Amino acid sequence: MIKCNECGLCKESCPVYRAVKKESVSPRGFAILDKKQNYDKALYYCTLCNNCKVACPYGVDLKLEELREKVLEQNGETESIRKMIANLREFGNPYGMSVGIKDQ
Ligand code: SF4
Ligand code: SF4
Repeated sequence: MIKCNECGLCKESCPVYRAVKKESVSPRGFAILDKKQNYDKALYYCTLCNNCKVACPYGVDLKLEELREKVLEQNGETESIRKMIANLREFGNPYGMSVGIKDQ
Protein backbone atom coordinates (compact mmCIF):
# COMPACT_ATOMS: atom_id res chain seq x y z
CA MET A 1 0.00 0.00 0.00
CA ILE A 2 1.33 3.46 -0.94
CA LYS A 3 1.51 5.76 2.06
CA CYS A 4 0.68 9.45 2.11
CA ASN A 5 3.83 11.61 1.96
CA GLU A 6 1.92 14.64 3.31
CA CYS A 7 2.65 16.74 0.23
CA GLY A 8 -0.73 18.44 0.44
CA LEU A 9 -1.33 18.40 -3.32
CA CYS A 10 -4.86 17.04 -2.78
CA LYS A 11 -5.91 19.76 -0.34
CA GLU A 12 -7.60 22.05 -2.84
CA SER A 13 -9.75 19.18 -4.10
CA CYS A 14 -11.24 18.71 -0.63
CA PRO A 15 -14.58 20.49 -0.15
CA VAL A 16 -14.13 20.58 3.61
CA TYR A 17 -10.69 22.18 3.44
CA ARG A 18 -11.93 24.67 0.84
CA ALA A 19 -14.80 25.67 3.14
CA VAL A 20 -13.01 25.68 6.49
CA LYS A 21 -9.40 26.46 5.45
CA LYS A 22 -7.95 24.53 8.36
CA GLU A 23 -5.11 22.11 7.91
CA SER A 24 -6.53 19.90 10.70
CA VAL A 25 -9.58 19.17 8.52
CA SER A 26 -7.81 18.50 5.25
CA PRO A 27 -6.80 15.16 3.72
CA ARG A 28 -3.25 15.78 4.89
CA GLY A 29 -4.50 16.55 8.41
CA PHE A 30 -6.47 13.29 8.41
CA ALA A 31 -3.42 11.38 7.15
CA ILE A 32 -1.38 12.81 10.04
CA LEU A 33 -4.08 11.77 12.54
CA ASP A 34 -3.92 8.25 11.10
CA LYS A 35 -0.13 8.19 11.38
CA LYS A 36 -0.43 9.16 15.06
CA GLN A 37 -3.29 6.67 15.48
CA ASN A 38 -5.28 9.56 16.87
CA TYR A 39 -8.76 8.90 15.55
CA ASP A 40 -10.16 12.27 16.46
CA LYS A 41 -13.76 13.41 15.96
CA ALA A 42 -12.36 15.87 13.38
CA LEU A 43 -12.66 12.91 10.99
CA TYR A 44 -16.43 13.43 11.05
CA TYR A 45 -15.87 16.58 8.97
CA CYS A 46 -14.84 14.39 6.03
CA THR A 47 -17.72 13.89 3.61
CA LEU A 48 -16.16 10.65 2.23
CA CYS A 49 -16.40 12.16 -1.26
CA ASN A 50 -13.05 10.58 -2.30
CA ASN A 51 -11.92 13.72 -4.18
CA CYS A 52 -8.55 13.47 -2.42
CA LYS A 53 -8.09 9.92 -3.70
CA VAL A 54 -8.80 11.05 -7.28
CA ALA A 55 -6.55 14.11 -6.96
CA CYS A 56 -3.57 12.37 -5.34
CA PRO A 57 -0.78 12.08 -7.96
CA TYR A 58 0.68 9.11 -6.07
CA GLY A 59 -2.52 7.06 -6.01
CA VAL A 60 -2.85 7.17 -2.23
CA ASP A 61 -6.14 6.04 -0.74
CA LEU A 62 -6.42 7.44 2.77
CA LYS A 63 -9.17 4.88 3.55
CA LEU A 64 -11.22 7.52 5.32
CA GLU A 65 -14.19 5.21 5.90
CA GLU A 66 -11.93 2.89 7.90
CA LEU A 67 -10.59 5.85 9.89
CA ARG A 68 -14.18 6.86 10.67
CA GLU A 69 -14.81 3.34 12.01
CA LYS A 70 -11.77 3.71 14.24
CA VAL A 71 -13.23 6.91 15.73
CA LEU A 72 -16.26 4.87 16.79
CA GLU A 73 -14.07 2.04 18.12
CA GLN A 74 -12.28 4.60 20.30
CA ASN A 75 -15.56 5.78 21.81
CA GLY A 76 -15.84 8.73 19.48
CA GLU A 77 -19.62 8.67 19.25
CA THR A 78 -21.09 12.12 19.73
CA GLU A 79 -24.32 12.65 21.65
CA SER A 80 -26.14 13.50 18.41
CA ILE A 81 -24.96 10.25 16.79
CA ARG A 82 -26.11 8.23 19.83
CA LYS A 83 -29.50 9.96 19.64
CA MET A 84 -29.81 9.38 15.90
CA ILE A 85 -29.06 5.64 16.27
CA ALA A 86 -31.58 5.34 19.14
CA ASN A 87 -34.21 7.08 16.98
CA LEU A 88 -33.49 4.77 14.05
CA ARG A 89 -33.95 1.74 16.30
CA GLU A 90 -37.10 3.00 17.97
CA PHE A 91 -38.88 4.98 15.23
CA GLY A 92 -37.20 3.88 12.00
CA ASN A 93 -36.07 7.43 11.22
CA PRO A 94 -33.20 9.57 12.52
CA TYR A 95 -35.48 12.38 13.75
CA GLY A 96 -37.50 10.45 16.34
CA MET A 97 -40.77 11.08 14.47
CA SER A 98 -43.40 8.58 15.46
CA VAL A 99 -45.44 9.01 12.24
CA GLY A 100 -44.07 6.82 9.45
CA ILE A 101 -44.53 7.36 5.72
CA LYS A 102 -47.06 4.51 5.63
CA ASP A 103 -49.24 6.38 8.19
CA GLN A 104 -49.41 9.63 6.22
S1 SF4 B 1 -3.09 11.91 -0.19
FE1 SF4 B 1 -1.62 12.13 -1.87
S2 SF4 B 1 -1.78 14.28 -2.54
FE2 SF4 B 1 -2.77 14.11 -0.53
S3 SF4 B 1 -1.17 14.72 0.94
FE3 SF4 B 1 -1.12 12.46 0.74
S4 SF4 B 1 0.38 12.00 -0.87
FE4 SF4 B 1 -0.13 14.20 -1.03
S1 SF4 C 1 -12.84 12.25 1.12
FE1 SF4 C 1 -12.81 13.62 2.90
S2 SF4 C 1 -10.69 14.34 3.04
FE2 SF4 C 1 -10.98 13.50 0.96
S3 SF4 C 1 -11.57 15.23 -0.32
FE3 SF4 C 1 -13.47 14.29 0.41
S4 SF4 C 1 -13.98 15.41 2.28
FE4 SF4 C 1 -11.85 15.85 1.82
